[in-house]
Amino acid sequence: MLKLHYLRGYAFSARQVHSQIAIIGGGTAGLNVAAQLIADGHAIPQQIRIFEPMKMHTYQPGWTMVGGGLYDINKTLKPMEKVLPKNVIVSDSPVIKINPEENQIQTFDGENYTYDQLVVATGIRTDFDQIKGITKAQQYLEEPNSPVASIYHYKYASKMNRLVDEFEGGKLVFTEPQMPIKCGGAPQKIVYLSHDRLRKRGIKSDIHFYKNSALIFGVPKYAEILTDVCQRKQINCHFKQKLVEVQDHVAIFEDQDTKELKSVTFDLLHLVPPQVPAKFIAASGLGDAAGFCNVHPNTLQHVKYRNIWSLGDCSSLPTSKTAAAVMAQTPILVKNLIRTWKQGLEPIPEYQGNGWVNLLGYTSCPIFTSQSTLLLAEFKYNSELDETFPIFQSNESRLMFYLKKDFFPFAYWYFMVKGLWGGRDGFRFFKGA
Ligand SMILES: Cc1cc2nc3c(=O)[nH]c(=O)nc-3n(C[C@H](O)[C@H](O)[C@H](O)COP(=O)(O)OP(=O)(O)OC[C@H]3O[C@@H](n4cnc5c(N)ncnc54)[C@H](O)[C@@H]3O)c2cc1C
Repeated sequence: MLKLHYLRGYAFSARQVHSQIAIIGGGTAGLNVAAQLIADGHAIPQQIRIFEPMKMHTYQPGWTMVGGGLYDINKTLKPMEKVLPKNVIVSDSPVIKINPEENQIQTFDGENYTYDQLVVATGIRTDFDQIKGITKAQQYLEEPNSPVASIYHYKYASKMNRLVDEFEGGKLVFTEPQMPIKCGGAPQKIVYLSHDRLRKRGIKSDIHFYKNSALIFGVPKYAEILTDVCQRKQINCHFKQKLVEVQDHVAIFEDQDTKELKSVTFDLLHLVPPQVPAKFIAASGLGDAAGFCNVHPNTLQHVKYRNIWSLGDCSSLPTSKTAAAVMAQTPILVKNLIRTWKQGLEPIPEYQGNGWVNLLGYTSCPIFTSQSTLLLAEFKYNSELDETFPIFQSNESRLMFYLKKDFFPFAYWYFMVKGLWGGRDGFRFFKGA
């Protein structure tokens, strides 16, 4: 069918291309869904179209390790064509609109696509614009010699590593914005990693951690352990403090109770930008009040449209935004999508694993507490504990450190991309396991 399209004032024609399964986003979630649909024999690659403008797939959990001096940045980036399943169809223009009533997707280049089933997996976007003087802050981040860095971007994660390596003493300021952000624990992991590196080099440092929230961590058991960690390391925590502006060697915070502004000088600033879902989700009528793709928390099906699904950071699922959560969500989404599409059944109203573990809202957050220890936080909806190795999770552990540093990246690059990694469920060597 030929249609007229309008983009930047030009009218042109484009064909409507149909896909049985359309996936928006080729990040951790989109890639994992495509890989499992194929690995489990539910779809052949040619039935799947992935919309993804980026040329590189990023293993973002590795960026904390890069900033913390434990990992090479090159190990966190791979060309998209090397990780996406072979013969899957890729559209590299970003999606700008969905018309869910017509099962239609529009991309920035003016093309129109239709679908039978749609998976929205666009992640969450870092939004530096919410910080006043942002042009300056970005200038500071870009400028190699300015003492401002962030593990929330691969370039600035490498910069963080170098700045800490070269640090000769003084005041370090770390920030954490309002939630939700991807990996809520990452802003504090980099505090502990940096502290340990400076301690080992015998550098005197005065470390301050400014958090937007009122708690060190949302799960009481881990909050207690992390409070001890901060006290032991003499890390000064400041709660309910929102970073609003960055100037030359000065960070300005707004107290969330009194709204008073406070200027804090720094010799090194680690910045975590606020984060927001893609605007087109809400503009297409698919968002919840905060603009996240509004899906049922236990089936991952859209609350209004039966053939729309979402998972990962862009979804409304009330759990923390991590790759670990994606690993737990993917089999649920795949199973329910196939049930409704191919078998005409209702989705299973339970975000429940297909192995021996219950994945109800499962997420994990591996928190580095030094360059050789880690606290593995595992919990589910309502911050309820859900631990796999309780014996190693009651304190900082060396074993969990190596699990996170070496095993998780290995499982991601060699098994997740093939649809053979089930996160806490382990390897998925049997179809539909
Ligand atoms: C510093 C840091 C540390 C982290 N640490 C951990 C950790 O220790 N453990 C853990 O489990 N998780 C961690 N995470 C979180 C984890 O990386 C994310 O939760 C995970 O990547 C989410 O997957 P996703 O597919 O939802 O989003 P992403 O992986 O971000 O992928 C989204 C994709 O959608 C694409 N996209 C966006 N908009 C459009 C559009 N309009 N059209 C088409 N495509 C679009 C993007 O280009 C991107 O490729 C960390 C993240 C960061 C940044």
